[in-house]
Amino acid sequence: MDHASLFKRAGKVIPGGVNSPVRAFNGVGGTPVFVESGKRQKIVTADGRTLTDYCCSWGAMILGHARSEVVAAVKNAAAHGSTFGIATPAEVDFAERLCSLVPGMDMVRAVNSGTEAVMTALRLARGVTGRNVILKFDGCYHGHSDTVLVKSGSGVLTMGASSSAGVTEGAVADTMVVPYNDLQAVEQAFAQCGDRIAAVIVEPVAGNMGLVPPSEGFLKGLRKVTTKHGALLICDEVINGFRFGFSSYSSLYAGVTPDLITLGKVIGGGLPLAAIGGKAKWMKRLAPTGPVYQAGTLSGNPVAVAAGLKTLDILAREQPYGRMAELGSALAVGISTIAAEHGVPVTCQSFNGVFTPFCTDLPVQDLADAKACSTKLYAKIFHGLLDRGIYIAPSQFECNFVSAAHTAKDVDEFLAKFDEVCATL
Ligand SMILES: *Cc1c(COP(=O)(O)O)cnc(C)c1O
Repeated sequence: MDHASLFKRAGKVIPGGVNSPVRAFNGVGGTPVFVESGKRQKIVTADGRTLTDYCCSWGAMILGHARSEVVAAVKNAAAHGSTFGIATPAEVDFAERLCSLVPGMDMVRAVNSGTEAVMTALRLARGVTGRNVILKFDGCYHGHSDTVLVKSGSGVLTMGASSSAGVTEGAVADTMVVPYNDLQAVEQAFAQCGDRIAAVIVEPVAGNMGLVPPSEGFLKGLRKVTTKHGALLICDEVINGFRFGFSSYSSLYAGVTPDLITLGKVIGGGLPLAAIGGKAKWMKRLAPTGPVYQAGTLSGNPVAVAAGLKTLDILAREQPYGRMAELGSALAVGISTIAAEHGVPVTCQSFNGVFTPFCTDLPVQDLADAKACSTKLYAKIFHGLLDRGIYIAPSQFECNFVSAAHTAKDVDEFLAKFDEVCATL
């Protein structure tokens, strides 16, 4: 089936033809790809091509697609009933597993998406502090709940403006937005209205403006200033968690214990499953033990939990993180070197198997830097690679993901094709 006619059909019954905007290729132009199936690091498109996949469902498929043990666990769970609206033993296993693996996670609640996890974390932070203001960073994405659909206003310390129609001014009136990696701006915000700030929410490694690591001392600084002012620190690890190592980024690399942590993507093993967890004194304030309401018909359902638990089992057994990091850094170094040889302005930023080729000669440390990149050049690179059998993120402002199923041969192939593409630019 050709993609153009599929997209035409889709456009009549699905807004924009897609169920999540970035899939529509608005950032790179052209007809979106439709996937028929996936196995390991490869996807097969509806028009019969096989592509090497570096999207991996935005990192969720850390083991690669359709890993047989995960498929078997899902089949087995489904055969025994997929949801009851009644508690199940498997979700207790899942909660115990997460709490044992993530420092600072005394209790956890399962939800169905990262969006829900963050929405709950923000409500909980407001509920337990009795304060209204949430401070977030420009370019960090926290799902599509109203409070966090904001962009920065004109001044550094102005309240944000809503970044979506349908989000009321009231819904974002209490959201402050400051540049990522700018601890001074955070300290200034607290100096100005620290007694009104309920929480700071951050992606420890920013992954939704392309891959932007935290600068030295940034996360420790956030921990310090939030503690000082009685605000909660929420680490949104929906991408980060179990992606860079077998726990949270904040514990493994930043030496920071947040009050609340949100997890998603990897921990769901490819099914809709996410979680919010943290210190017991906060988590106990959720319903039914506390006054902060949260619920979900399908939350912690046995099928999703089976996929998540099996994925964690395999990650624990195989510990693929070192290998993924090596492949990722070989890609990043290769991409930057090859681009330089061709005089193409690309700087590839990466961390432990996650990478973004930024179309600029300069390092990217915040959203302003990312926005200065050439999206036109990125679109050419994207399509050049796609024509040659490689699928990277269809937007300059996203990450690419190496999975445990990728090989050194995939890296060599990527770099050879990237060299070809650069020669055409
Ligand atoms: C993907 C993502 C979300 C939203 O998760 P969904 O499951 O898409 O709702 C939230 N926060 C971060 C950091 C994410 O990367």
